[in-house]
Amino acid sequence: MLNLVLFGPPGAGKGTQSQKLIEKHGLIHLSTGDLLRGEISQGTALGLEAKKLMDEGKLVPDEVVIGMISHKLDANKDAKGFIFDGFPRTVAQAEALDRLLETKNAPILGMVALEVTDDELEQRLLLRGKDSGRPDDANPEVIRKRIKEYNDKTAPVAGFYKNQHKFKSINGIGSIHEIFDAINHVVSNY
Ligand code: ADP
Repeated sequence: MLNLVLFGPPGAGKGTQSQKLIEKHGLIHLSTGDLLRGEISQGTALGLEAKKLMDEGKLVPDEVVIGMISHKLDANKDAKGFIFDGFPRTVAQAEALDRLLETKNAPILGMVALEVTDDELEQRLLLRGKDSGRPDDANPEVIRKRIKEYNDKTAPVAGFYKNQHKFKSINGIGSIHEIFDAINHVVSNY
């Protein structure tokens, strides 16, 4: 199975590149952000709880996102592989993902990190906020909080995969096509 973690701060381009990767390799895209927004639009209790945190730029609790991922893995037993986008976002989530995949004998092959500067991220997110309709993209204060959450809680996840010799980082600034080529270059070595 081609199981890949696409990593990087909010606005790094993970969603865009995931879309291209699933088309090329026939993988299932698992974005915890998309799954949470799905819960919000359906008005579930989980969605209501998550919305408060997301609107403030805070992470939702580990057990919530781990539960959603576990459910999706079970629902896609015949998948050729998964692209994890926006997950794992804490070391506890990364450990839980390893345990879930162990039961399927299908480990993460690698993490590809998109490197983008904080200034560029802030500009991209504000621009996206103009038509994405995402409340968390519309407010500079919330954007800065998300970047801070990333630096405090999510950046250490890179170390988790470095320890397993599964980490590669690429330049996330450039054309969509150039970045896609760089990701595929990494993926072709798996
Ligand atoms: P982005 O990476 O552009 O900020 P996402 O769609 O990945 O957007 O995430 C939006 C929000 O959803 C996050 O700010 C956070 O509140 C919540 N979220 C998404 N994935 C996770 C996760 N794995 N753990 C905790 N919170 C998450």
